[in-house]
Amino acid sequence: MKVLINPSQLELTLALNRPKLESTNLESIISDIFTQVESDKDKALKALTLQFDQVSITDLAVSKPEFDEANQLVSFELKEAIQVAAQNIERFHRSQENKEYEVETSPGVVCWRKSLPIQRVGLYVPGGTAPLFSTVLMLGIPAKIAGSSIRYLCTPPNREGKIHPAILFAAKMAGIETVYKVGGAQAIAAMSFGTESIPKADKIFGPGNQYVTAAKQYAQRLGIAIDMPAGPSEVLVAADNSIPASFVAADLLAQAEHGTDSQVIFLSDQILFVDEVLTEIEKQLAILPRAGIAREAMKASTAIVVEAENWSEIINSYAPEHLIIMGKYEELVLKKVINAGSVFIGKNTAESFGDYASGTNHTLPTSGFARSYSGVSLDSFVKKITYQKVSDEGIRNLAQTVITMAEAEELQGHANAVKVRLEYASSIREQQTSDSVSKIQTFIRNDFRDVKSYSSARDEFEGLGEVFLDANENGLVTAYNRYPDPLQFELKSEISIAKNVPSENIFLGNGSDEVLDLIFRLTATPFLDSAAYLNPSYGMYPVLAKVNGVRTIPINLDSKFNISVSEILSQANGSKLLVICNPNNPTGGIICKTKILEIVKEFNGVVVIDEAYIDFCTSNSVVDEVNNYPNLIVVQTLSKAYGMAGLRIGMAIASSEWITALNSIKPPYNLSSLVQKTAINELKSINWKAIKTGIINERERLISFLKSNKKVIEVFPTEANFILFRIPNATEIYNKLIKKGVIVRNRSTQYNCADTLRVSVGTKIENDKFIQMMQKL
Ligand SMILES: *Cc1c(COP(=O)(O)O)cnc(C)c1O
Repeated sequence: MKVLINPSQLELTLALNRPKLESTNLESIISDIFTQVESDKDKALKALTLQFDQVSITDLAVSKPEFDEANQLVSFELKEAIQVAAQNIERFHRSQENKEYEVETSPGVVCWRKSLPIQRVGLYVPGGTAPLFSTVLMLGIPAKIAGSSIRYLCTPPNREGKIHPAILFAAKMAGIETVYKVGGAQAIAAMSFGTESIPKADKIFGPGNQYVTAAKQYAQRLGIAIDMPAGPSEVLVAADNSIPASFVAADLLAQAEHGTDSQVIFLSDQILFVDEVLTEIEKQLAILPRAGIAREAMKASTAIVVEAENWSEIINSYAPEHLIIMGKYEELVLKKVINAGSVFIGKNTAESFGDYASGTNHTLPTSGFARSYSGVSLDSFVKKITYQKVSDEGIRNLAQTVITMAEAEELQGHANAVKVRLEYASSIREQQTSDSVSKIQTFIRNDFRDVKSYSSARDEFEGLGEVFLDANENGLVTAYNRYPDPLQFELKSEISIAKNVPSENIFLGNGSDEVLDLIFRLTATPFLDSAAYLNPSYGMYPVLAKVNGVRTIPINLDSKFNISVSEILSQANGSKLLVICNPNNPTGGIICKTKILEIVKEFNGVVVIDEAYIDFCTSNSVVDEVNNYPNLIVVQTLSKAYGMAGLRIGMAIASSEWITALNSIKPPYNLSSLVQKTAINELKSINWKAIKTGIINERERLISFLKSNKKVIEVFPTEANFILFRIPNATEIYNKLIKKGVIVRNRSTQYNCADTLRVSVGTKIENDKFIQMMQKL
């Protein structure tokens, strides 16, 4: 055994290199054998068996009397041992049968996966120097558990034309009824093509010499699956001197006795311990029957002395078939091991346990394939089929995604296969919904229709009572120990008076921002629908669209911030939502009521009219139309006109079916009782008409000031409580005004708004200050 102490990277690489197999004329030998077997079948197998195994076989299949004879030849002790091993192997491999579950990846799209047995499996067990009946168990038992319907074994006969009785007994134990007396590359060829006696296999398993290995690779090229590429067996033992040297020596020799080409690596952190192990190896070799083979293998093997913290790196780069890790570094090293076929942990865990009887499989990846291959397991005998089923709902939810992707890949045929179904499903749905579902329901997201609204305690009981013990509140008496409801009914009734709309048409939100968000959520299906809005307009619309996964369609206004109804309709066509801010923020412009209603009538989706500033020009409001148009939702707020921005109260005004739908997705109690009480009091005392007149007078005063100012290029017509005007070097003026303590809004970066400022109408004193500062500039 070579010993390397703190080797360089190069030394390490050389020591860990697997020997390259000579394969010069292997290829032609194998292809020759395959050609013979393909054409002459059983006849060729018999001839090749005579040539390579020096025995003449008449019947390739092992007969029943031969099985019976083998049964008598195997000792009672060995039978018992094989039985115990078989039980453990079966137990462990059965644990790999894990059930998989159906997954609904999108609503209406169900996917699942199922393991199905590979039908015909051919198992190969070498003859040669040791009868590997344990391999029969390792391959036969998982094949049986998987349910492969054709399972058979090929193994070479001895000079008497017989198979080792332990192999036949193990085959019976593993549920294999058919064994063929054929070995070597010709056996693999027989399994690849099928002959008169031997069925063709879908997958070939089992170890073998270089001919068998080359034949399996050849078979793979013919389209037959194989378990894994096989090479000489290997072990890496990592141990420190807390472990008896005799354990380490025995583990190394257990591997070395497999064959002269076996690979053995020993990792330790102390040269003294390595010396002890080497002495112990000599002691054990003296009494080992296969000492000759083992000694040969040991010659080519290496002991490496390095700090334990570097072990995992060496292990991972070597990727051993077997890794034995013992001693005080067990946990440290194990945590970092990522490449190994099978791992044996702790001083008691000889590799031999796994080789025979603990239950794990001993057919493992060699030659560094442990980096990417797993050992044989139940999985090796099954293939997994994926299934999916798309319902009508599934089409609606996923079709657009697929169409978009297929079209982006320029595979129109793929897109069409979905389009035809989508169109068919929608036509059917339209028919059905037109007679069974109200128009409003068709605007609500498909996957929301069956959402049961969460009902809080105070939603369920609207009346009065003396003792409320229904909403999990704390009886502790403070001003706020109760959830706000049913207070909202009182607030709605105040709003109903102020706005002149019935209570049942009002939905309350935490600011109209929340109302808008809930409207987007309720109506637009993420990644399917789009929302159109005028540009420039309120900056939250595209944000709300984004956060709800809705595509945005900005409809640009002209340089005077005008646009025709037909232009709006043509650009918004196909969108689920059309949001119009009226009067518009930041321009102040208005679309008159008749035109708004024309849009509502013609548009196929939902029209949301954001009337945040409508209180300054009430004649243009469409609130009184909400019961006439199922696709109309008006949004208003107490933030702007009523001076309650700090309370955050917004409302949707729409037909009562919309109100119910919005209530079903809103968070419970979205307005606090403090807010509601304050607003109720404010609404009771406010004299809006007087305030409005004051603000409009001030607005007109500001407009005439701006129009008379020589610097101002343009003052845009406004119906709101703000004025947008264009002035050269707007940003500079904006900054100068800030220095003078007057803050206006610079809108210059918005679409078509270069060099514009927006000033909101304030109190007379505030407006005076603005005028004064503008004059100074
Ligand atoms: C201010 C504003 C809102 C937000 O109003 P809140 O009720 O305070 O959330 C919505 N839309 C427009 C056009 C606004 O200007």
